[in-house]
Amino acid sequence: MKDTLKELLGKEWKCGCGRTHRVPTKEIYCGANAKERLLRFIFAEMPGPDVAVVADTNTFAVAGQAVGECLAENGLNVKVRLFPAGRKKLKAEKELAEKLGSELKDFHFAVACGSGTINDLVKYAATIAKIPYISYPTAPSMNGYPSPIAALSYKGTKKTLAAIPPAAVIADLDILRNAPEDMIQAGIGDGISKSVCNIDWAVSRFIKKEYFCPLPGKMMAGVMGFYTGNAKKAAGRDPAAIKGLFEALNLAGVSMVIAGSSAPASGGEHLISHFLDMSNSSKGKDMNLHGRQVGVTTVLSAKLYEKLLKLDTDLRRLPQLKKHYAGDRQTKKEFMSRYGKKMAGEVYREFMTKYLPPDKKEKELLFILKNWGKIKDMIRKNLVPSKVLEKTLRRSGAPVSFTKLAITRAVFRSAILHAREIRGRYTVLDLAYDVDILESFANDVV
Ligand SMILES: [Zn+2]
Ligand SMILES: [Zn+2]
Repeated sequence: MKDTLKELLGKEWKCGCGRTHRVPTKEIYCGANAKERLLRFIFAEMPGPDVAVVADTNTFAVAGQAVGECLAENGLNVKVRLFPAGRKKLKAEKELAEKLGSELKDFHFAVACGSGTINDLVKYAATIAKIPYISYPTAPSMNGYPSPIAALSYKGTKKTLAAIPPAAVIADLDILRNAPEDMIQAGIGDGISKSVCNIDWAVSRFIKKEYFCPLPGKMMAGVMGFYTGNAKKAAGRDPAAIKGLFEALNLAGVSMVIAGSSAPASGGEHLISHFLDMSNSSKGKDMNLHGRQVGVTTVLSAKLYEKLLKLDTDLRRLPQLKKHYAGDRQTKKEFMSRYGKKMAGEVYREFMTKYLPPDKKEKELLFILKNWGKIKDMIRKNLVPSKVLEKTLRRSGAPVSFTKLAITRAVFRSAILHAREIRGRYTVLDLAYDVDILESFANDVV
């Protein structure tokens, strides 16, 4: 794992997929003496002495303060930008990131001390301010540290916005080990999602003839064994397991850089999770930790694939599927009633990027039915059984069912049925919808 990462960092190469890949992040480190590593990197790579250290009150106490002091003692001009802590008080919102972006223009670079929210805010802000930033993670809770996107909400909907990856990701192993228990569980939940989203990507490439690079899938191939074998140790804060978890997560982050999108690390399982976030935030409710929610939706996605594998279908079903598709008119009015005035326009616009009028869709349905055997082979070859994923989550103490996430049956059912509407990419949810088993699946689950 570590060697794979090392081989890719700071490199640019022409790939068999036809694209030139470039990984701008030069260093990913997890171990002792992280502050010294950080200093060394800054003096070697950063363009000047003016640095903004960004943290929330929690991560400031855990890391930000010590980092700020260390940089100041070594002659850098440090200014701390402190946010309040807690998911209610600090949200990863685009407007907030833009505001931070205008503040960061006065600095040579920024250091983001924190986990997902702080990292996403600073990544987007630094991109706007056109300055480099260094990620100094405080928890192995998600895979987005070195990714090329920032997950931010905009007008109530969750967006994955393009942003420039950090120049380096430098973490203190002791800080990661002492992260809150639910954040370690979240890392495992986000990590195991790779088992399903790479199938989503491969299937969508096949049906939609989209761009695909096999490298991210290959990079992640060995990683699933790590999660299933080390979930319990990581939850027990075993140093080697926490380091391994952090590296596995970052490998997924780098795989997004190679793909140029979140495709190899975010499929239908992430959409259901984003839908739940949108639903919670529109009601003013607390959001669940990203990875804990994604763990649950990953198991669900694997179960949906298992249901698809059991489905025998052929061209005789075309009239029925055509009727199902044409009968379900995805109108703006319907989106209004589902998402409310604030979000409907944005969701509708996104959905329309993959919507096909019935005559064009007929061709696609025909293609799916003709190639059903091939699609099933693709799934079968890569699927990790839902039982194995469930066991992995259980070993880490993470929730395996939506009931443990304080989500009602009605909301969860709605998330399974409609999450595919919030992003333009084709996923397992679209496939299940196209062959008309999504509704029966949602009913089975709840
Ligand atoms: Zn490639
Ligand atoms: Zn994720």
